[in-house]
Amino acid sequence: MSVDLEKIEVATKMILEAIGENPNRDGLKKTPKRVAKAFEEICSGYFKNPKEVLNDALFESTNNEMVVVRNIEFYSMCEHHILPFFGRVHVAYIPDKKVVGLSKIPRMVEVFARRLQIQEQLTEQIADAIMDVVKPKGVGVVIHARHMCMEMRGVKTKHSYTSSSALRGNFLEDKIKEEFFNLINAPTQNHF
Ligand code: ZN
Repeated sequence: MSVDLEKIEVATKMILEAIGENPNRDGLKKTPKRVAKAFEEICSGYFKNPKEVLNDALFESTNNEMVVVRNIEFYSMCEHHILPFFGRVHVAYIPDKKVVGLSKIPRMVEVFARRLQIQEQLTEQIADAIMDVVKPKGVGVVIHARHMCMEMRGVKTKHSYTSSSALRGNFLEDKIKEEFFNLINAPTQNHF
């Protein structure tokens, strides 16, 4: 299963005509095809199962300390305007007998991000997928993102970040919540 490339090509040509462009001029001739291929990639998350990604790499563990994966970059499209929003995700969980391969968390984030999204929903879906599959004691997810639908149009709030968080299980407890926010806000040396 994949996106309907031909349909996207037809629609793109219609948009070009609608804005007063000439879809047959040299620069635009191949644009409908390119747009279709771009959407195939940008929306590939509809054809993948994020929970399967996690399920593939579950390991028994006695670790019960917080595991944190910071600064996962993502690119998504807002479902209200089909314009990009992008930023960084921080994910943490406290295992309960099981851990998940660390590289699977960014891959799972990508599956959810490559769909039409709203930031709050993306945040919750990531937290809930980890709760469902890894069954940890708790999960925390924070996303900071820039929205092109806010910066290029409408209110034009340039470079403003939108933050959202989802806390599950024992991450709702004050002490753990505090540890989580301290860890994701701690300065990183060398990497930036
Ligand atoms: Zn939007």
